[in-house]
Amino acid sequence: MPSDCLFCRIVSGELPSAQVYADDSVVAIRDISPQAPTHVLLLSRKHVDSVRDLGEADHDLVGKIVAVAAELARRDEIAEDGYRLVVNVGRNGGQTVDHLHVHLLGGRPMAWPPG
Ligand code: 5GP
Ligand code: ZN
Repeated sequence: MPSDCLFCRIVSGELPSAQVYADDSVVAIRDISPQAPTHVLLLSRKHVDSVRDLGEADHDLVGKIVAVAAELARRDEIAEDGYRLVVNVGRNGGQTVDHLHVHLLGGRPMAWPPG
């Protein structure tokens, strides 16, 4: 684990977070700066810099992250109204933390096109 990675430090428990879910491959936390009534971050336990760096061996991991997001949306009762899953990739994608994560946003209508 890269010792200077913020999300690795959160996943390991070294840094505190508002955790809403954890299993052997995925940890979900509330975003520290929520952009919607529900704003959850789904983090891979394993350090991967971004979607750009996924290998074939990570396909199950990505499927798991999306399935957990869907389950947490049901738990937060935003599933019926709908929600948005966002993955920012690299500089132009707006990625600020270089550790694989998916945003689950909901509880309000989302605009399109995104900013
Ligand atoms: P990105 O911009 O890389 O797609 O998303 C990073 C997200 O991590 C941002 O929404 C930001 O608010 C969130 N974030 C940054 N630092 C922390 C932290 O220490 N704790 C939590 N829970 N979220 C954080
Ligand atoms: Zn990391």
